[in-house]
Amino acid sequence: MLDYHLHLWEHRPGPVEATLEQVAAYCEGATAAGVEEVALTEHLSRFVQADRVLKGWWDDDPSPALASAMERAWGDEQGADLDEYVEVVLAARAEGLPVVLGLEVDHYAGRMDVVGELLAGYPFDVLLGSVHWVGSWGFDNTSEPAFVAEWDSRRTEAVWDAYTEALEELAASGACDVLAHPDLCKIMGARPGVPDEWYDRMAEAAARSGLAAEVSSAGLRKPVGEAYPAPDLLARFAAAGVPFTTASDAHRLDHVAERGDELRELLATVGCTTLQAYRDRTPRTVPLG
Ligand SMILES: [Zn+2]
Ligand SMILES: [Zn+2]
Repeated sequence: MLDYHLHLWEHRPGPVEATLEQVAAYCEGATAAGVEEVALTEHLSRFVQADRVLKGWWDDDPSPALASAMERAWGDEQGADLDEYVEVVLAARAEGLPVVLGLEVDHYAGRMDVVGELLAGYPFDVLLGSVHWVGSWGFDNTSEPAFVAEWDSRRTEAVWDAYTEALEELAASGACDVLAHPDLCKIMGARPGVPDEWYDRMAEAAARSGLAAEVSSAGLRKPVGEAYPAPDLLARFAAAGVPFTTASDAHRLDHVAERGDELRELLATVGCTTLQAYRDRTPRTVPLG
């Protein structure tokens, strides 16, 4: 079992420092839950190095209200140092802790080349690809009222369409190895009556770019109350030969490795007995355990 999606910091303003003690505590919690290896995958958007090259991307959105909400949300969570984060995780790995160096890479429409240049300067083991916003609408951000209200003025099919288009661009960019929470667009529970065409596109995007898909218990903590991906999408990934990782997407210690048994059961429904682990962005197959 793996927990290949872990954050050190919650989504709120506050100190954003990585410490060896915290990484060690996460490893201990994961090991106690039967996890063999974890990946630390902090959000790229929290680091000052990202701010320097990407700040202002939200101004591409025609809605000043959404752009200013994104500017606020971005600023609130900013301030971490990518060099320090990398150093701490590598030190933990060098000490023999079962941890690899990762990052959760957001989708920046039309700017993935800038992201690729920034990431190339670091020795990442695994990079997650995530679509957290459509334009500058942070559709999964439930603590920003302007973002939550926006759900009422959009058609579900249009949201899924824009989300999937962003996911396709992200997959094709080469900036990531794993599609994180692949059907995050269902987070609030809004889903097209027949989501098949979007599921087909998501599975096709992963298969075409040689990406793994993450099976995550985070959705169980969200309004939708369902793991990512949905059973029908999971089956499509499996049919397309897309390998899997497992993840909790924890932002604090007591969520690490959460509900791993349910993820194992889900994977059993598609006959999956292995996972994909990574080192130096090179995949290897490991037993699901
Ligand atoms: Zn995410
Ligand atoms: Zn995450």
